[in-house]
Amino acid sequence: MDIRIYSMAYPVTALGPGQRVVLWVAGCRRGCAGCISPEMQPLEAGRAVSVERLVEHVLQVYPPLDGVTISGGEPFDQAEALAAFVHTLRVQRPAWTILVYSGYTLEEIRGDDVRTALLGVIDVLIDGSYRHDIPRVHPLTGSGNQRVHCLTPVGEAMRATMNACRAEGVNIGVGRGALDMVIGVTESATRAAVCEAFGAETLGACEGPRGESCDT
Ligand code: SF4
Repeated sequence: MDIRIYSMAYPVTALGPGQRVVLWVAGCRRGCAGCISPEMQPLEAGRAVSVERLVEHVLQVYPPLDGVTISGGEPFDQAEALAAFVHTLRVQRPAWTILVYSGYTLEEIRGDDVRTALLGVIDVLIDGSYRHDIPRVHPLTGSGNQRVHCLTPVGEAMRATMNACRAEGVNIGVGRGALDMVIGVTESATRAAVCEAFGAETLGACEGPRGESCDT
C-alpha cells in the first residue's frame, strides 16, 4: 500500500508539541480560497512511497523525536494507508504522539468508514477548511473555524502544551530535496518577513516545496 507524499521535515517544533517529524501528503480536492499550498493539491503531486518504506525512513530520523504531524494536502483522502502507517509506527515508537491536520470536519470524518480508520489511531485532530475571512484563535490553527480535538488521553495531555505554543512560530528547513521551507502556521505577512530576513536566495527556495501547514 502506498502513500503519496509531497515533503517531509524534521525536527520541527512549530507544528505541535516537542520535536516532530512532519509529513505533507499530496492531493486535495477541497480547493479552499487562499490555500497557501496549491502545489500540494494535484493528486499526482509528490511521489508514492510504500507504507513500509515510509515507516523505515521515519524510524531513521535523528535526533530522537516526540511524534509525527501529518498535514497536506488532505490526509484523510489517504486514510487507509496513513492508518496503516501510524499503526505500524506505533509498534516501534509507542510513546510518539500523532497530530493530523484536515480540511474535513470531525463530523464529516466520522460519517465515513474509511476516514474513521485513521481517526481511530491518532491523538489530535485539527479540523476544518482554511477560512481566510475568520481570524484564528489558536496558535496551531490557520483560521478561527478550525478546532483542536484531543481524541485520546495522550492527546488530552497535549492540550496545555498546544495551547501554549508560540503564535507565529516557524522553523526554517534546509535539506536535500526539501529545499528551504518556512514551516509553521503563519500569516502571509510573517512568512514574507521570514523570507525577506533570509535573503533573496532563500526567497527563491520558498517558491518550491515550502512545508507550511495546509491550514495556514
Ligand atoms: S488549505 Fe488544505 S484543505 Fe484547503 S485546499 Fe489547501 S491543502 Fe486542501
